[in-house]
Amino acid sequence: MPTPDRDGWTVETLHDDYAQALREDRILYDNKTDHQRLRVFENARFGRVLTLDGVVQTTEGDEFMYHEMLAHVPILAHGAAQRVLVIGGGDGGMAREVLRHQSVDHCTMVEIDAGVVDFSKEFLPALSDGVFDDPRLNLVIADGAAFMAEDHEKFDVIIVDSTDPIGPGEVLFTDTFYGHARRLLTADGILVTQNGVPFMQPDELRGTMRAFRALFPDHGCYLTHVPSYAGGPMALGWGAMSGKARAVDPVTLQGRYAAAGITTRYYTPEVHKAAFALPAYIAALLT
Ligand code: SAM
Repeated sequence: MPTPDRDGWTVETLHDDYAQALREDRILYDNKTDHQRLRVFENARFGRVLTLDGVVQTTEGDEFMYHEMLAHVPILAHGAAQRVLVIGGGDGGMAREVLRHQSVDHCTMVEIDAGVVDFSKEFLPALSDGVFDDPRLNLVIADGAAFMAEDHEKFDVIIVDSTDPIGPGEVLFTDTFYGHARRLLTADGILVTQNGVPFMQPDELRGTMRAFRALFPDHGCYLTHVPSYAGGPMALGWGAMSGKARAVDPVTLQGRYAAAGITTRYYTPEVHKAAFALPAYIAALLT
């Protein structure tokens, strides 16, 4: 097995007993910001790959499977989302998907590391695809936990597109943070969260679900599949102020999707509904 950052491979450092390795066909960027080490390299299968502190964050090849499901499920389930908050999301992919909805007239994105935004514009332009120039986007460079503790106009959807609960991302997995998110949601608001790969990180999902049970009338998770997030299906946390959004019927969902006029490569209304069907080993983490 090649060693990390040598021999022309990146060996991911997320787990202490398992690693995936991606061949570095061309290194495009490798630098430390005040918060984390940023690397972008090209890989024949995944295209351009972004790692933060050695952990794969997003790749051009499979980012759509993650960004589409974390953006379109809550927005289309809500049905009338106008104000959306993204915590993290420095590469711009989440904001790109959110603002494809013409019904969304405001998206605040709170990213702790300006370095991720700056170099994503230069080295991963396909991810943001011009969204940083969208007049509806309000980019805030700050710690998402600090932002969430302040008073703001409420949001219909809050999306936590963070790193894993290590380093700067750790504060985004706390009861306090989730409690502030609930305070900033509208009456039918929905909070969705990047919650890792349950087979590899069961405690991450277990912890978030424990907090959501205490905070949200409708709580649970749904699934997507992102090959570069190794280890099986990925859980996306779901905390809603009412059960209406999750219960939306397939015909209504299909109508909303058609009306949105967006083309997707992973999301479909059928996949949306099916994503909430959990294998027993994942459902067990919710109780
Ligand atoms: N899609 C990735 C995943 O599933 O792991 C996350 C992508 S995005 C690159 C993660 C972003 O969260 C990074 O840009 C990182 O700087 C940002 N981030 C980490 N901790 C944060 C915090 N406390 N407040 C705001 N942004 C944070």
